[in-house]
Amino acid sequence: MAKRFPVEYYAERILAHDRLGLSRAITLVESTLPSDRELAHRVMDLVLPYSGNSVRIGITGVPGVGKSTFIEAFGNYVTNTLGKKLAVLAIDPTSQKTGGSILGDKTRMETLAGNKMAYIRPSPAGQSLGGVTRSTRESIMLCEAAGFEVIFVETVGVGQSETAVNEMVDFFLLLMLAGAGDELQGIKKGIMEMADAVVITKADGQNLQKARVARAEYQSALHLFPHAASGWVPKVSISSALENTGISEIWKTIGSYLELVKNGSFFEQKRQNQNLHWLHESIRQTLLDRFFAKPEVVKTLPELEQKVLKGEVSAFAAAEELLQLSHL
Ligand code: GDP
Repeated sequence: MAKRFPVEYYAERILAHDRLGLSRAITLVESTLPSDRELAHRVMDLVLPYSGNSVRIGITGVPGVGKSTFIEAFGNYVTNTLGKKLAVLAIDPTSQKTGGSILGDKTRMETLAGNKMAYIRPSPAGQSLGGVTRSTRESIMLCEAAGFEVIFVETVGVGQSETAVNEMVDFFLLLMLAGAGDELQGIKKGIMEMADAVVITKADGQNLQKARVARAEYQSALHLFPHAASGWVPKVSISSALENTGISEIWKTIGSYLELVKNGSFFEQKRQNQNLHWLHESIRQTLLDRFFAKPEVVKTLPELEQKVLKGEVSAFAAAEELLQLSHL
């Protein structure tokens, strides 16, 4: 087990904007050990007043869309041109199967990884989606308290994790490939509906014309979706991360969005609703963790599984018996 420190150490190092302290705190919030959870809660309480002051941006797209190349170009723009400190976090539920991570590969985002204004943290391996999303949510707050002004949360664009990311970011960016009629059908409608902006990637060379056509297609497709409660109309743009085009426009789009939602109460309301979502999510996750960690449950579950398989007891009765045994 990694070394642990007193609660004050984590809080002080984070507020001093120290990266090593931040990394250690993130390792702590990624742990599911009950003693670590308790320490993590105390750290979170101390840094809470210093969190919240960043622009939280979710970035998603299927593998191959050019996500890491885009994040590198956009990230270098945010840090080098805008002079803002950037943290890049990832939610990658597949990493528990492969043991790897979408950000684990050292060759990805090389220049950003070497950028002193940027902090890149791979998705924790070996956790359930629920576990990863909880620790990512807490990591966002730790990064904010450590002085990061822009946070990217990256996902692989294939399902559930996007819904979770949407519950922790202010702005949701969907990356799409041109050339596209079929993809327009194939992309999950739910993910399209969440997007505050769509970026058609690799808009260079022979692809440029196709990207322009795709932009028009997606723009009209987005008009079919009901207008968001914010009053924002999602924007579609094109970009080449290799040629560094269309990057500053995306930052401008995010700026216009923030101006709109901060003008009224929408921004604040959305963050409050997200907090409530995480309250409920935490209750669910904590109950599950505690239930499955109970020795009585660990001992009896396999026997009951066999009985259910043999049809000797119903799934519902078995569940009830375990719940009684767990004394939760
Ligand atoms: P990811 O799997 O979504 O992270 O995609 P990558 O960033 O690894 O990119 C996948 C492939 O697309 C790589 O071969 C990149 O070189 C290429 N690629 C990424 N961005 C661009 C771009 O802006 N233009 C062109 N032409 N190719 C790109």
